[in-house]
Amino acid sequence: MIIVIDGPAGSGKSSTAKALSNQLNIHFLDSGALYRAVTYYWILKGKPDQEKFFDLLPALDLNVDLTNNSFTVWLNGNDVSDDIRSSAVANHVSDIASLPRVRKKVNQFMRELVEQNTFIADGRDLGTAVFPDADLKFYMDASIEERADRRYQEMEASGHAVTRERVIQNLKERDHKDKTRDADPLKKADDAIVIDTTGKTFEEQVAEMAAIINNKLHINS
Ligand code: C5P
Repeated sequence: MIIVIDGPAGSGKSSTAKALSNQLNIHFLDSGALYRAVTYYWILKGKPDQEKFFDLLPALDLNVDLTNNSFTVWLNGNDVSDDIRSSAVANHVSDIASLPRVRKKVNQFMRELVEQNTFIADGRDLGTAVFPDADLKFYMDASIEERADRRYQEMEASGHAVTRERVIQNLKERDHKDKTRDADPLKKADDAIVIDTTGKTFEEQVAEMAAIINNKLHINS
């Protein structure tokens, strides 16, 4: 079984999916973290051009640790969960994620993963391109100011040096790239339930979505 949450950067998808995974005791899948790991690999390889990067893709080994509903990303045998949250990765991830060969690799990894268990996953194109037959689809959104505040606080708390203005600029650039790219752009699925979190507390949005999941799929806390 798979529940998906799509939406723009900073709309609260990851933290909400994580909270719901704990509350409902199902696995969490952070698809953005996988694109970030591929981007980190590209940086480690010296930011090669597209053709050279495609030659290096087969040697990229992705793995995840799902213990206790966590989602720890491993790249070629190393835990890269912290490295993938840097500004360097955030500044390039939308470009790397727009490459169809990268999307194919990440999508295949995710589809194999969810064959084995029940997941709540967050991303951009999960309800449209990756899991069009998902059991339940949400689309989360919020104002750019609120999304920037959340992302800024997250990055500051984890020790990444950044300004609020830079976060807003990065979110706007990523929104634009994610929505306008040719390969699987960010788009609300026709059958997705929209959750606008502007002005809602975290607890309110989690409770609202948990109630919908319970009502539709009979998974409760
Ligand atoms: O969710 P997060 O902000 O960590 O995602 C990082 C980036 O990965 C996004 O800005 C987007 O460019 C890309 N992404 C994607 N498709 C997904 C998830 C993330 O293209 N399903």
